[in-house]
Formats: sequence, structure tokens, C-alpha cells
Amino acid sequence: MAARAEYDVAIVGASLSGCTAAILLGRAGARVALIEKRPDPKAYKRICSHFIQASAVPTIERLGLYEPILAAGGLRSRFHSHTPWGWIEPTETREAFCLNLRRSLLDPMLREAAAAQPNVELMLGQSAERLVREGDAVTGVGFRDREGEEREIGARLVVGADGRDSLVAELAQVKQKTLPHNRLAYGGYFEGPKPRFWPDGAVWLLDPDMAAAFPTDGGQVFYIAMTHKDRAPEFKADPERALVEHVAGVPEPPPIRESRCVAPVIGKIDMPNRIRGPIAPGLALIGDAALATDPIFGVGCGFAFQSGEWLADSVSPALRGVESLDNCLRRYRKRHRRALGMHARLIHDYATGRRFDPFEQAIMSTAVRDPQAAALFEAMGTRRTTPPRLLLPIAGRIAVTSARRLARA
Ligand SMILES: Cc1cc2nc3c(=O)[nH]c(=O)nc-3n(C[C@H](O)[C@H](O)[C@H](O)COP(=O)(O)OP(=O)(O)OC[C@H]3O[C@@H](n4cnc5c(N)ncnc54)[C@H](O)[C@@H]3O)c2cc1C
Repeated sequence: MAARAEYDVAIVGASLSGCTAAILLGRAGARVALIEKRPDPKAYKRICSHFIQASAVPTIERLGLYEPILAAGGLRSRFHSHTPWGWIEPTETREAFCLNLRRSLLDPMLREAAAAQPNVELMLGQSAERLVREGDAVTGVGFRDREGEEREIGARLVVGADGRDSLVAELAQVKQKTLPHNRLAYGGYFEGPKPRFWPDGAVWLLDPDMAAAFPTDGGQVFYIAMTHKDRAPEFKADPERALVEHVAGVPEPPPIRESRCVAPVIGKIDMPNRIRGPIAPGLALIGDAALATDPIFGVGCGFAFQSGEWLADSVSPALRGVESLDNCLRRYRKRHRRALGMHARLIHDYATGRRFDPFEQAIMSTAVRDPQAAALFEAMGTRRTTPPRLLLPIAGRIAVTSARRLARA
């Protein structure tokens, strides 16, 4: 029989979403077990361009990590978008600034903050293998410790923060939708001349391919190419060469040819979009475990921070014993769906590799000329608002700029 310990919450996965939820739940007074399969406290996610959208900055501030990220060399960064109609420029709005810090620094920083939280026990090198159930409800996690011994944790709430291939979601048999994703992503760190917009990032929307330059700490730039999967043989054969040629071939290219690649270019070819019902009795999913999208729009880190925060805030009343856990979990699901549901639909639709539709073309061609439309485009891109809230204002800007153009003709 496996040794068993009792906690309020057991979180599987100590990356961005898991550590966020652990810190905030610990602060709210819950006893948290944070279970991570990798034994090294400095482990980090290797394939990620770590451009953290502005929508997540308030969460990072609340975690007390905003200043430490800047002190570690992280950059406050906006993005300039090159479209077939020209550049869409960012605004000066304080809320529009995103953050960028390499995951090799960000992940250990977050894990250290979680481990320092008095109510949180970080358990490294422990791989979750099964869920414990009573009737329909999940009541614990079974895992194997570093010595290979089977152990068990009982918890009022089990949280899957274990990424896009979530074993917790699979074991809980939550509803899952998998949607096609037809783009590959290859990226790498370069040192050399600073790109034109430094410290801002630049994204080339090549319809339907994409390239980006994300300045980051240490004076480095993460260049990334996202193209249709039919170019996989070229990228597999010589990743660095394919990346450099793709990025150097964009209009008004950044200085990748004059730069030196400082770490092997790595990539991922199969990244199906996954959306999962984020709750079940006694269980919640956060981060990529709840929603894993095409990385082309750089939203996963931000959504991981935010969903960790939404879960912690939603379930705290249940853990204090003032509301039922089922109610609190439904509140989390509602918040997750409201905030991310339409973003996910649009991203998943574009992930098929299709070209821009007429409405997207109208938005971008208007935003190139009209600063108010550009501000709306930025609010959407930085995920500070939801698509339905933008629909009317952006349609208004399209109408105004079209009318002005006609009047001039
Ligand atoms: C090519 C690429 C580029 C990207 N670029 C960006 C970008 O610029 N901006 C952005 O916002 N997002 C980007 N993303 C997405 C981002 O990397 C993810 O959305 C984010 O890391 C999700 O965080 P998470 O905490 O949910 O999961 P993860 O970071 O995937 O962490 C899951 C954790 O769970 C642990 N784990 C897994 N299974 C178990 C188990 N059985 N037991 C215990 N522990 C377990 C893992 O070891 C890991 O620590 C990119 C992704 C890719 C692929």
C-alpha cells in the first residue's frame, strides 16, 4: 500500500501555471503539494519564445515577480507587426507593454518563489502516474518518488498543470477537442546587431507564414520561423540555415545574417491545438493542460499565468470552507471560457494554415493607416480584451477610414 499524505491541493506540474496557482493558493492559506517530475530546480521549458503578453503582467505583478524579472535582465517590450499592407505600430499605453525573459531564468525564478511560499511543498523528481478517486470525484494523486517508491497524496482539489500532453487530463477523462495545426516552429538565440525596434519585438505576418524577432535578456534576440509543415524536410535537414533564410527573406528583414547563433536552433513540428473542459469533480486544469494553442500568437505563457490566478481566486472560498468546491470550480470554468474561448477559436481557425479572411484583411489594412484601429489591434494582440468586445469598435474604424478614403478619391 502506497504511503499517503494529506493536503488541501495537489498540483501536478511546477512550471508557469502550476507555480502561479501554488503561490496564490498558498498565500490564501491552503496547504499545497506541488509535484514536478523533473528533479532539477533549474529545469526549464526549452522550446518557447517567452514573449509574455501584456494581459498577464498584472498577474506577474501580483506574484511579486515583475521587478525580479526586470532585475534579471527581462525586457519591457511591445510588438510591431508587419502585414502585407505595411507596419502596424504599437501605442505608448503603459498597459500595452509585454515582458520577455528567457525560460532558463524565468522558470527557476518562479519555482523558487513557489518553494519559498510557507504553505507550499515543492516535490521535485516526482512523476504523477494515477489519480485516486472516490465515486466520481478525484480525491488524490498517485506518483512515484525519486527512489521509485509508490506514494499517494490525498487532496480536496487536484490540479493538472502538466502541459499540452497532460496525463492528468487523460486520466480524468475530461472532454477534449483536438484541432489540426499545420505549422511548424523553429527558433534560436542570436547575438549581433540589435534589430530596428529593440527592445520591442517584431512580427512578420506573411499570410500564412510568420517570422518574428523577440529581443530578450543578455542582449540576445530569439528569432523564430513558423511556416507550413510542408517545409519540414528543409527545417529538419539544417535547422539553422532554414531559420536564417526564412527570417532574412522577410520584407525589411532584421539583421539575422549579421548575427551569430549562440545555441542550437530547435523546433517542434506536431503541436495540435487542444482544448479541454477545464474541470471535473475534485479536479481542475490550468495552463496548456486546459488550452494549448498554436504558438504563432505567443499567448501560452500569459494564459498559463492568468489561468493559474483565476483558479486560485475561484477556489479559495471552498478551501476556506465557505462555499462548495463544485460551485467554485464552475466559476473557474466560466471565467476561463469567457476570457479565452473566443481567442482560442480564432487561433485554432488560423492554425489550419489558411490565409487571412476578408475581415482580417480589413482590420490590418485599416490599422496600418489609422492609430485608433492600431490601438484596438494591439489590445487584441496583447490579449487585454476579448474579440467580441472589439468587434463593433473595429468595424467602426474600418467604416470611418473607408469613408475618408472614398471622400478623398
Ligand atoms: C515553439 C513554441 C514557442 C512558444 N512561444 C511562446 C511565446 O512567445 N509566448 C507565449 O506566451 N507562449 C509561447 N509558447 C507556449 C508556452 O511555452 C506554453 O504555453 C507554456 O509553457 C505553458 O505553461 P504551463 O505551465 O501550462 O505548462 P508547461 O510549461 O508545459 O509545464 C508543464 C510542467 O508539468 C511537468 N509535468 C508534466 N507531466 C508531469 C507528471 N506526470 N508529473 C509531474 N510533473 C509533470 C513538466 O515537467 C513541466 O514542468 C510557445 C510554445 C512553443 C511550442
